Amino acid sequence: MHFRKLLFLWILVFSFQGSTVFAHEVLLILDPGHGGSDHGGWSGDGFKFGNGYVAEDAYTFDVAKRVEAKAKEKGWVVAFTVRDKLVSDHVADSDEYNILPPRRNLIFNLPLPYEIVHRGRDGLGKRLSVTRRLNREYRGAIQIFVSLHIDLTEPYVQGMHIFTGGIKNSNEFAESIIREAREQGLGFRVRSEEKPMINEKAHLYVLRRGVITPRVLIELGNFYNPRDQLLILRSEGREKYAEVIANAIEDYVK
Ligand SMILES: [Zn+2]
Repeated sequence: MHFRKLLFLWILVFSFQGSTVFAHEVLLILDPGHGGSDHGGWSGDGFKFGNGYVAEDAYTFDVAKRVEAKAKEKGWVVAFTVRDKLVSDHVADSDEYNILPPRRNLIFNLPLPYEIVHRGRDGLGKRLSVTRRLNREYRGAIQIFVSLHIDLTEPYVQGMHIFTGGIKNSNEFAESIIREAREQGLGFRVRSEEKPMINEKAHLYVLRRGVITPRVLIELGNFYNPRDQLLILRSEGREKYAEVIANAIEDYVK
């Protein structure tokens, strides 16, 4: 076919599609664990840092916002399963240890009426409704789902723990995360034979019922482990986690 005709057809096709999803467009869905009425791991349960109490939801959300910033620089579309109805883009960037306030104002990222995030099957179901809507909306794009959490377990356990539900592409993506984590000096889980970095067996609800592939749930670290605590509580450390995730996505979509 004549080149000009081809070009004309190309313009015709693309100008008639309302929201064009390009073949290699990347949609990243971030699912910061907890928030609203559920703070997740809570230092009041056992450990205390300085004078402050530390809540998991504050840190998973902060890391997610940092991943978002990096993803946008790379030109990917980013969506959250939950959002803060008051402050949407606050990220603490002090070099000091950060005791971040719990994310009491998180709502599900669904159309009105607003609903404060809560735990349990119903809460997880609402996060999954967001992903189903996006899955349809961005059909044709490379879609990736990342849920972020922080462990509260025996102090010797250190490093990332990635759940994949045994899904092949999710395992591959998890391998990229581990490679990047090792490069950043984060990829180490003590007693790896008991606590491997990739967990294929646990059938977590958001993975079992998810529609996006690859999909992973990452326990970034363990609040009770001194090294992980340092990484999680300092903005520098959280920036590293975000870097690892963004680079792993880049590797995976190549
Ligand atoms: Zn959690």
